[in-house]
Amino acid sequence: MSHFSRLWRWQVGNFRREAAEGREVGTDAPGRDALRDGGHAMKRYSVFAIAREALRHHAGWERAWASPQPKASYDAIIVGAGGHGLATAYYLGKNYGITNVAILEKGWLGGGNTGRNTTIIRSNYLQDSSAAIYEKARSLYETLSQDLNYNVMFSPRGVMMLAQTHHEVRGYLRTAHANKLQGVETEFITPQRVKELCPILNIDGPRYPVLGALWQARGGTGRHDAVAWGYARACSAMGMDIIQQCEVTGVRSEGGKVVGVDTTKGYIGTKKLGIVVAGHSGQLAEMAGFRLPIEAVALQALVSEPIKPCMDIVVMANTVHGYMSQSDKGEMVIGGGTDGFNNYTQRGSFHHIEETLRALIETFPIISRLKMLRQWGGIVDMTGDRSPIISKTPLGNCFINCGWGTGGFKAIPGSGWAMAELMAKGEPGPLAAEFDMWRFKEGRFIDESVAAGVAH
Ligand SMILES: Cc1cc2nc3c(=O)[nH]c(=O)nc-3n(C[C@H](O)[C@H](O)[C@H](O)COP(=O)(O)OP(=O)(O)OC[C@H]3O[C@@H](n4cnc5c(N)ncnc54)[C@H](O)[C@@H]3O)c2cc1C
Repeated sequence: MSHFSRLWRWQVGNFRREAAEGREVGTDAPGRDALRDGGHAMKRYSVFAIAREALRHHAGWERAWASPQPKASYDAIIVGAGGHGLATAYYLGKNYGITNVAILEKGWLGGGNTGRNTTIIRSNYLQDSSAAIYEKARSLYETLSQDLNYNVMFSPRGVMMLAQTHHEVRGYLRTAHANKLQGVETEFITPQRVKELCPILNIDGPRYPVLGALWQARGGTGRHDAVAWGYARACSAMGMDIIQQCEVTGVRSEGGKVVGVDTTKGYIGTKKLGIVVAGHSGQLAEMAGFRLPIEAVALQALVSEPIKPCMDIVVMANTVHGYMSQSDKGEMVIGGGTDGFNNYTQRGSFHHIEETLRALIETFPIISRLKMLRQWGGIVDMTGDRSPIISKTPLGNCFINCGWGTGGFKAIPGSGWAMAELMAKGEPGPLAAEFDMWRFKEGRFIDESVAAGVAH
C-alpha cells in the first residue's frame, strides 16, 4: 500500500473518531483523553490543520511536548523515555487516571533502542504468555495512530520467517499449530507461495534452499520515532512531565520502599518507581539494591541507499541470519546479529556487517551491488529464556520492565499496557503474570530462545 493511501486511511480514521466523539471534523478541539484529570489541551492534527499551517508558513504549530523542570515529587516516576517507558506512562494516565507522573530520560526521548531498531512487528511467538502479550501489542498497533492522533505509520505488510533447515520447518509448524490454539493468525506456507509474495527472493539456495516459511499477514512495520513521539505528545497533554537530559544516578529507599531518586537535575521524590531502561537495567537494579538475570550486548542494523520499490513485505532468514524490509523512503533496512560479548557501545562491528550482507546476498542476489549508507547499534537486554521481565522487585513500590532484548519494538503498546496495570495495582494482570523475575530462580522459563531463533 502506498504511503499516500496509508495517510488517507489514517486521516479517514481520524474523521470517524472525531465524528464518534461528536466533534466538528478537523477542529482543534482537545481529545477526550487529553482533558482527563485536568490535563493540558492537545491540538489535534488533521488534514485541515496541515492545510491551514501551510498557508501561514507553519508558524502556528505548538511544541509536541513540554520540557518542564522536575517537581519536588510525583505519584510515579518512570526511568527511561524509550517506547516502553512512554507507553507505560501513557496507559497509567489513560487506563488508571494517574497523571502526576515524571518520565526521566538521560539522553533524548526515543534515543535508545526505540529509535535504533528495524521496526519489525509480529506476534507469532510459541509460548502462550508470549503470544498473548505480543498479540495484544500488535492489535493495539492497528489503531495506535488514531488513539494517539499521531501517525505511527503502522504498515501491516506481512512478515515472513524463512524455514531453511528441516529443524526450522518443524519449529515453525509447531509455532503455527500453537498460534492456532492461541488465536494468533499465522500460517506455514510453501516455497512457491514464498516466491509469489517476494519475487526477489532466491528460494534455491545455494547453501540453504527455502523449504517454506512462517507467514503472518497482519505483521509488519511501524515508524519507530513516531511511536515514541506519539506517546510522548499524549503523555505531555495529560500533564505528565517528560524530563530529558536527566540521568538517574541513585535510588533512595526507606523501610523496603523507594522514596525517591537522585538525578543529574537533583533529588526527586516518588510514591512509585518504574524502571524501564532496556540495556541499562542491570545498572538501575544495582542502584536499587537487587540483581537481574540479564546481560547487555550491542545489536546492530544498517540501511542501504534508497532504491525503487522492490519488496513490500518483511523477510527474516534466521538460519543464514539476516533480515530485510524496504522503508517508505526506499532504503533497504537490514538487521544483523548481537555481539558475542557484553558491552555498552552503540556502534556496530565490521564482522557483523560482512556476515549479514553475505547472508542477504545469498537470499536476495539483486542487492549485491547496493551501497550501504549507514550502520548503528543499540544496547539490548538479554534474558536466558529470551523473554521479557515485567515484575515486582524486592522493593515494595519499585517495578521493572526489561529483557525485551532484540525484539521489543513490536511489544511497546502491550508492554506499556501490562506495566501500567502492574504499577497502578501493585500486582500483575493476566498479561504480565508469567513474566516476573523470580521465574529464573524457580525454573519457570518462558523459552522463546529455541523457538524464535532470532527474536525480532
Ligand atoms: C539494531 C536493533 C534492531 C532491532 N530490531 C527490532 C525489530 O525489528 N523488532 C522489534 O520488535 N524489536 C527490535 N529491536 C529491539 C527493540 O528496539 C527494543 O526491544 C525496544 O526498543 C526497547 O525499548 P525500551 O523502551 O525498553 O528501551 P530504550 O528505547 O533503549 O529506552 C530506554 C531509555 O532509558 C534511558 N536510560 C538508561 N539509563 C538511564 C538512566 N540512568 N537515567 C535515565 N534514563 C536512562 C536510555 O537513554 C533510553 O532512552 C531492535 C534493537 C536494535 C538495537
